[in-house]
Amino acid sequence: MLVFRTVAELNAHLEKAKLFDYTIGFIPTMGALHEGHMSLVKCSKLNKDYTICSIFVNPIQFNNPLDLERYPKTEEADLALLEAAKIDVVFLPSVQEIYPSNDLPIPNFHFGQLTQVMEGAFRPGHFDGVIKVMYRLLSIVKPKRLYMGLKDFQQQIIIGKMLEQMEYPIHLIPCETTRDIDGLALSSRNSLLTPAQRKVAPILYKILKEVKSRAKQVPLGELKHLVNFKLTASGFKVDYFEVVNTQTLIPVQSFEDAPSIVACVAAYLGDIRLIDNILLK
Ligand code: AMP
Repeated sequence: MLVFRTVAELNAHLEKAKLFDYTIGFIPTMGALHEGHMSLVKCSKLNKDYTICSIFVNPIQFNNPLDLERYPKTEEADLALLEAAKIDVVFLPSVQEIYPSNDLPIPNFHFGQLTQVMEGAFRPGHFDGVIKVMYRLLSIVKPKRLYMGLKDFQQQIIIGKMLEQMEYPIHLIPCETTRDIDGLALSSRNSLLTPAQRKVAPILYKILKEVKSRAKQVPLGELKHLVNFKLTASGFKVDYFEVVNTQTLIPVQSFEDAPSIVACVAAYLGDIRLIDNILLK
């Protein structure tokens, strides 16, 4: 496994080895790696890609400075996991490498309402930061396949939209959410939960599963009230719970409103923000 910290080193390697002609599989991450990230890596390895993983805590996608400050950093352990998974390259750039002072502005992509709802509404500027870092990383790595987790449902829809508008083809491979044994979606931020909060956290997914089992019988408006009530009673502070069309991310009023529907939730336990989702249809 090769580790590169600069764009110049990475590009020199990719050019020398003529790797741009191979299928490069790319897994962008912010580190503090867990089995969720590693499931994306496994998928790329199974596809026999030349697998590149990046670790970069992107400061411009954090709308809350405290969240950025305490974001877990576990570089040594991350490298050990990636080495054990036999990936080809790790890219560990600095902020200066990703956002050099002579950086060109990114093209004007169009996302419509995709970036305005849910995470977009509650985390102002978040998706501008995600889109910028993804454009920059994709321009550097030039992968043929990009692996992203369905855990961040809205993010992978938005990046899919961006790929449709890019000048070279990149195939997005969405990967299922990896969960802990009690159902909690794995997340780097889970390590920040207190033991008491960690005990409560799986309720989020438990409630999503309840929603799925009742979505056909109970009107969606009623379900929304119920979810908000149950989460609040369990100690969560709810940012949003939305039931939306998977393609447009527009809320649906009834189960018949769209061919494919996903329920998405974001809620705080203390000051740790958790997100999750479940496909209803
Ligand atoms: P992050 O490091 O949180 O930016 O995540 C990097 C990638 O890993 C994103 O595509 C995430 O959607 C994905 N990811 C994070 N958590 C999980 C999980 N529990 N299961 C599957 N993919 C995940």
